[in-house]
Amino acid sequence: MRRAAPAAVERDKADRDKGQGPGPVPTQDLGRHNLALADELRAAAARVLASGRYILGGAASGASEVHAFEQELADALRVSHAVGCSSGSDALLAMLMAVGVGPGHEVVTTPFSFFATAGAIARLGAVPRFADIEPATLNLDEDAAAARLGPRTRAVLTVHLFGRAAPTRGLAAACAARGIPLLEDGAQAIGAVDSEGRTVGTMGLGAALSFFPSKNLGGFGDGGMVVTNDGAFAESIRLLRTHGARSKSDHIMVGGNFRLDELQAALLRVKVPHLAAWTAARRRLAALYETALREAGTPLVLPPPDPGCVWNQFVVRVPAAERDALQAHLAAQQIATAIYYPRPLHLQSCFASLGYQRGDCPIAEQAASEV
Ligand SMILES: *Cc1c(COP(=O)(O)O)cnc(C)c1O
Repeated sequence: MRRAAPAAVERDKADRDKGQGPGPVPTQDLGRHNLALADELRAAAARVLASGRYILGGAASGASEVHAFEQELADALRVSHAVGCSSGSDALLAMLMAVGVGPGHEVVTTPFSFFATAGAIARLGAVPRFADIEPATLNLDEDAAAARLGPRTRAVLTVHLFGRAAPTRGLAAACAARGIPLLEDGAQAIGAVDSEGRTVGTMGLGAALSFFPSKNLGGFGDGGMVVTNDGAFAESIRLLRTHGARSKSDHIMVGGNFRLDELQAALLRVKVPHLAAWTAARRRLAALYETALREAGTPLVLPPPDPGCVWNQFVVRVPAAERDALQAHLAAQQIATAIYYPRPLHLQSCFASLGYQRGDCPIAEQAASEV
């Protein structure tokens, strides 16, 4: 059966034939990325269809795709345990539930991240306490975070933003001294390593990953995972994702439906063997951007080099007054850009009752106006 090549592939080929440039440059082209694996993906979907088993722990025979995916990804990421979840957001929620976060508690976190980081805290009736970020890496500043620890702090949630491992050594020590866990939001940083060679999920108690289609390991819908070296923590997440059920009729805690689907796991398994090569390609491209933009002498502030970064995004900064003009100029050249994130979390409307003001996290606020 002949299948049509994806539109982007046809377009590139046409451009090459005409001896022209690459044509419009979108921020990403997921169809093109995924269609390169089309035959394997179809086979994986067909396997699940035939199995009669669609949800983790289903009654039908055959090995669980979710369990196989968990094992394969844990091996690839060099962590002991991986627990598939319904999304990165739910993986964050399950981690916070597992360490007992609830009403009356505070969780110290960054104001410069995707909303889900703070949303997970608020969904449990706890209060996000925002500490400012580092100006160069845009990750949570360890000293600022440590200064926010107080009697109500139940956990710290750091974020490895844009694929770059956050600094954690000092913060992990400050948490340990108080007997509270350091948790990681690794949704954008699958496979990232810090300057000491530690992988995401092993700097703190565990990390939440996301398989949202635009993440480095992108699925075909929503999906997420908790990775950890702590067996008891992994077991808590496993319970929480199935309504706290130890067996069909015995619920030993209140959890939720945070499961990853068999179909999603089967499709994602196709991608796991490619992840290392894709990460290497992202690193090559980031180095290319870095060199070309530096040599061009643009006034852009470039992201600092980091051999462990997995570059979910390549984020540059411009003076706030020039950002709109630059974006319009690039759009005129058919080069798409996006702003991550234009408004810091402490200034989101839904958190107005927490009383944060402009000026409370000045580094994050400046970043939001310049990225
Ligand atoms: C994508 C993302 C999430 C949420 O993941 P979903 O799978 O979309 O729920 C959480 N935190 C960060 C930093 C993210 O980028």
